[in-house]
Order: sequence, then C-alpha cells, then structure tokens
Amino acid sequence: MSLILLVADGARFDTIDAGTRAGQSASLPSLARLRAEGALYPVTTAFPSVTGVAYAPFLTGRFPGPSGLPGLRWYDRAHTRCRRFPYARSYLGAEMRHLDEDLDPSHPTLFELAPSRWNAMSMLGRGTARGERLGRDVRTLARAAYTHWSGDVGGWIKLDEYVARVSTAHIVEHRPAFACIALLGLDKASHSEGHESPLARRALAGIDAAVGQLRAAVERAGMWDDTHLWIVSDHGHSLVHAHDDLAALVRESGHRVLAHPWLFTRGAEVAVMVSGNAMAHLYVELERRERAGWIALRERWDPLVRTLLARDSVDMVMLPLDDTRTEVRTRDRGSATIVAVNGRYSYSTIDGDPLGLGLELANVTATDAYEALVGSAYPDAIVQIAQLSSSARSGDIIVSAAPGWDFREKWEPVKHASAHGSLHRDQMLVPLLTNRTVRGIPRRTTDVMPSALHLLGLPGARDLDGESFL
Ligand SMILES: [Zn+2]
Repeated sequence: MSLILLVADGARFDTIDAGTRAGQSASLPSLARLRAEGALYPVTTAFPSVTGVAYAPFLTGRFPGPSGLPGLRWYDRAHTRCRRFPYARSYLGAEMRHLDEDLDPSHPTLFELAPSRWNAMSMLGRGTARGERLGRDVRTLARAAYTHWSGDVGGWIKLDEYVARVSTAHIVEHRPAFACIALLGLDKASHSEGHESPLARRALAGIDAAVGQLRAAVERAGMWDDTHLWIVSDHGHSLVHAHDDLAALVRESGHRVLAHPWLFTRGAEVAVMVSGNAMAHLYVELERRERAGWIALRERWDPLVRTLLARDSVDMVMLPLDDTRTEVRTRDRGSATIVAVNGRYSYSTIDGDPLGLGLELANVTATDAYEALVGSAYPDAIVQIAQLSSSARSGDIIVSAAPGWDFREKWEPVKHASAHGSLHRDQMLVPLLTNRTVRGIPRRTTDVMPSALHLLGLPGARDLDGESFL
C-alpha cells in the first residue's frame, strides 16, 4: 500500500463539501468522484491554524505546542533555537529552513518513518533528501520567492500546476510509499481576494484538475488499487473587514515592542509575534529566560490584557498559569480555567463561559472534550488551548482574533482580505477526503499520521495526539 497526502492549503470544509455533492453538477468533479467512492469528513486542524505549523499534526501526529512550533512567528525566550539577538523566529522567508530543526527531534515525521517518500512544497520536510523533494531546489525556490514577493497570486496557481505535474511524474516513476503534495494557490488566492472569490474558485478548480490528472496517471500505471489518496487542509479562511495592528497597540500602551519587521529594538519589553494573521503570542519581561506563568506577571501586566480585551478585534485572551492550567478571558462572555493533566481535560467557570459550552467539564478524555465542542463556534478549543499553552515556547499572553479581524496592518506582500490562525470554526474546521471508506471516525488532522502508519504497515509511534481511523 502507498499513501498520497494532498494538502489543499487553506481549503475550508464547507467549500469542499459544497463542490463535491453527488450529482452531475458538482463543481469539483474529480474530488466528487473520490468522495462518492470514499468519504468526506470535517476535522479540526490545530491552534494556531497556520501554514507550516499546522502541517505538524498530519506529518507527525502531534499538536504544534508539544512539537515545539508555537506559531509562524515566535520569540525564543530560552535562546536555545535562536542564539543571537533579537531571538525572534519567523518561518516566512529564509528562516523557513529552521522549521525542521525546531520541530521536536525526539519524534519522527512520516517522511522519516516511511520506507520511501516524496515531499512537494511542504515547509515541514524533515527526513527528505535531494531527489525526494520539490520546493527546496533553486529553481522552485526562486520561482516561489519571486511569486511571493511580487504578490502575483496567479503565479501561485501556475506553481500549483507545475508542482502537481512534477509530483505525478515522480510518483508514477519512483512509487514512493508516502508522498505529500502541498498546493498553495488556494491559500494565496483566499488571502488576496477572499475564499469565495473567482480567483479562489480558479485555484480550487486547479486542485481538482490536478487530482484528476494524478488519478489518471496512477491508474494508467496500474497502481490505483494499492494507492490511498487523502486530501486534507491545514486551516480554513474567513474574510477580514478590518486590521488591528497589535504591535502598534502595545507600543501605544507605552511599551517598547519587538515585532516583525522591526526586530532591532533595544530594551524591548514586549515581543508581539503574529501568525496567520488572526492569532498572536505576546511575550513580556523578555529578560526572563523561562516563562514565568501568569500569576507572577499579573500585577504588572493585567492592564495590558484589559487593553487587549477592550478591542473589538480581540475575541479571546489565553493566559498560561503554569504547565497544566490556562485562564481564558473574553470581554463579553467572561472567563474560565482549562486544566490538562495526563490526557484528561477540565473546563471550569471563573465568571462566565467563554467557549459557549453551556456546562463545565471535569477530567474528561480528549475525545469527550472534542465531542462537547464539535458543533460550536470553537471546535476542539479546550484541547487546542491546552496543547498550545503547555509549550514553553508559547507567549505569556496568547490572543485569538474575533471574526472579521486580523492583527497586522501591513507588511504582507499579498493583500490580506482573509485570515486564519484563530480558534474560530471558520479557520479551525478543514476537510479530510479519503478515496476509500474508513472504519473509524476522523476527528483531528493529528489522526492522519497514525492512520498512515497503520496503512503502510509500520509500527505505531509513541505519545501521539492523534488516533488511527483505519
Ligand atoms: Zn496554509
């Protein structure tokens, strides 16, 4: 058996669902055919719902927090990964190459475990050598960099075609046990024009055509019966009507701020690290080499949290108290505490119900915590807040944006008419389309990796956050 994992970067569940309904009129005919033979599930990605970071779940079976990847941008308080001033990481641009090494080395990726592999365009690619990947060669990198910095979204859609064509030829010729193909055009088109725009529809049609051609080639090569094709996404998208520059806000509150692209602020007090751009980590008291926990910071920094919560752009603020407890605050829905100990989760009110759960939970499993929130505006938020908050690399204050908002005013080569990164349903819910029926119930993108191990006949891995759906 072999597995092809196609990442339709930035695809929303409802978009794929609507385009693949049975009948002649399906707007995504190749995907609709797969769905008719297999199944389509809504699953949750991980918080923060951003590219690269949110690839860790399906490639390693673990959440971003325990994987050591708290965001697309983060501040390395411990100075262990960023050894020089200003100790700030951004996986956009040249530092993308550090993603593989920042990822917890004690847990292997699917690329490392599979007997043979192919990686096209996944930023996370640990375990692939030259000849087994596309996207790190000079030609593709130069093309991607040019397309990125020129803001030419049509260029990304053309790049998808190229990536799909090269990958299809490679798969048929070399027959890798595991192939990951990431198509990025839909994400770029959605950022630029919105996920329902003609440009996004064009990118989606391109994905459908690529899947059709891949399938036809695999069938011609007599490999289809032994091939599983799973299509997944790393995050959803939702329209942004206004930007609220968090770095500027913190600066206006009287603090010296370290934020991209202005990194060389001497004596900075707060690092503002935005991802996606609908979430952010704020790190305070940067001279501390270990996270202090909110209780030690409360007296001095509570006014900043109140300033954040007064903004329409801020939906939820999370304050890690220690390695197991997190306070969740909102402006209008009150506060609650989330506790995670040994895979058991509790949610108890302080003065409200910020997640809109309608009840408290005590010592439930990750699956029960999932089921409690699956239909809500914040699917899987209890487990997702806990996993991110537990990371020593996360901020002292974690912020999730309200629908319609993001946290960066400018500095993006592609216009951001749409965002992701937050805990909100529109950004957390993603599709998982399988070309055959499966026995279990896929819930999270972390379930993909253990299922892939099962499919490839490989031994299970330890300490995973996902479960096999096969
Ligand atoms: Zn993405």
